[in-house]
Amino acid sequence: MNNIVVIGSCNIDITVLASKRPAAGETILGTGLNISPGGKGANQAVAAAKLGAKVTMVGCIGNDAYGQMIKDNLHRYQINTDYLITLDNENSGTAHITLAEGDNSIIVLSGANAHVSKDVVDKAWDAIEKADLVMVQNEIPLPTIGYITEKCAKNGIKVLLNPAPAADLEAQWLTNATYITPNEHELAALYPANNTEDIILANEGKIIVTLGSEGVAYAQDGELRRMRSFKVTPVDTTGAGDTFNGAFATAIVNNKTIEEAVHYGNAAAALSILKLGAQEGMPTAAEVTAFLA
Ligand code: ATP
Repeated sequence: MNNIVVIGSCNIDITVLASKRPAAGETILGTGLNISPGGKGANQAVAAAKLGAKVTMVGCIGNDAYGQMIKDNLHRYQINTDYLITLDNENSGTAHITLAEGDNSIIVLSGANAHVSKDVVDKAWDAIEKADLVMVQNEIPLPTIGYITEKCAKNGIKVLLNPAPAADLEAQWLTNATYITPNEHELAALYPANNTEDIILANEGKIIVTLGSEGVAYAQDGELRRMRSFKVTPVDTTGAGDTFNGAFATAIVNNKTIEEAVHYGNAAAALSILKLGAQEGMPTAAEVTAFLA
């Protein structure tokens, strides 16, 4: 009973390091290059798989070298790619990152991720209907999120919606989702007119808000709860949110309570920020157990 299906984005992150950002029309020499798998969907799939969940990745890649790299990487973590569709006439999703003067500037090309349609979901339905939890993020076309949340709700399948990056989603989709895990900024995009505490209290058991180094806020027994993050000195916070989601999901499919799942997510996310790289830094189940011992 720890079967997770992630329907989401798969990217290759291409990071160029430079001493400064080039001005328009300027050419400069960079100092380094890092090419690594990313995308919120794939990151959350890897986070859950490293923590011992049985994970299937549903999405689209291009028929190119990056697509092969994405697939090989998922296999490295024993993630099922039977429902990862290769498209002949589209590039794999890529994120083009310039890391200069201590800051990122990023251009994302959705590529194949823009083709994660209702049809892709239907083709993967055999796997989805057997899932203990379906995970979805905002890096695929938003109408597909509406379709997934509706179809899963009708079929009694739990959905964890991580509404990142921020977008204004339809109220019915939020009703249909089982768990929603925004950060504060994403929560404000979902409920622009409401007070944060009121929204959390009105959505006990559903909305879990990540607050970076402040931890996590959620409601229990009609009260607002705040679980503090673990005190660590961050090395690289990239992928902290994805690690939290993968760990929270893994705990939920292992029949843990929301409180226990938040605690587990906090621990895994804290460990992930101690190492460089989004996926490389994600902990194994044994590492989380040792950290919590
Ligand atoms: P990102 O998009 O950068 O991956 P996010 O905005 O989706 O992150 P955050 O709320 O920043 O998510 O972080 C997710 C979780 O990671 C937090 O709830 C917390 O458990 C953990 N975390 C993040 N930053 C820190 C930190 N500095 N110290 C300890 N834990 C942290």
